[in-house]
Amino acid sequence: MKKKSAKKTALRIVSQIFFLGVFIFLIFKGRLQLWMPVFAGGVLLSLVFSRFYCGWMCPMGTLFRPIRWIYGKLGIKRLKPPAVFNKPVIRYGILILMIAALVLSLKFKVRINILLYITIFSVAVTLFFEETFWHHHLCPYGTLLNLSSRPSVLSVKIDEEGCTSCGLCQKVCPASAIETLESKKRHIIKNECLTCFKCQEVCPVDVIHYRT
Ligand code: SF4
Ligand code: SF4
Repeated sequence: MKKKSAKKTALRIVSQIFFLGVFIFLIFKGRLQLWMPVFAGGVLLSLVFSRFYCGWMCPMGTLFRPIRWIYGKLGIKRLKPPAVFNKPVIRYGILILMIAALVLSLKFKVRINILLYITIFSVAVTLFFEETFWHHHLCPYGTLLNLSSRPSVLSVKIDEEGCTSCGLCQKVCPASAIETLESKKRHIIKNECLTCFKCQEVCPVDVIHYRT
């Protein structure tokens, strides 16, 4: 791994562990609703820095790490997302359902920890299905960030001229955010990218950068 990438990976791990720690602390204190300002901060950040929240702050993404590591070591392959979930209407439907549940729980003062249940569900899903199923099709927070990150100034980009079309970046991308162009070069779909930099770590010709 390149020196610059190694530093970024280390920083990302520290950030993820920190935010997971905050998340667990709030669960034990029974104050998980305080995570909402953190998420709102993530939405604001996404207007400029893309889905930084997904790659660096989200506790679900951090919990997926050991699953990915163990499955990778054991060579366990997970199921592909069912094709029916390719329809965007499902993704937006889930987001609307979550917002409705939040509004109703506030209106009727029902103390239900939606975020905690979503987190448990995300881990259960990821035990059986490829991670992209959660990031790309199910996560309501991801869908919201997918929308808010569209105007972002900074994002992970491939310098297509230098790309050798090896496809390594696509293999490691946990969010299926890299598409193949007609020329066989690769291209990152900005609003699907989690800014995890895993593609940058493996690119043999160093043509993946976080830039304007
Ligand atoms: S495109 Fe690269 S940075 Fe974006 S999610 Fe995929 S691997 Fe991570
Ligand atoms: S890893 Fe680098 S060279 Fe290979 S397809 Fe991706 S961007 Fe192109």
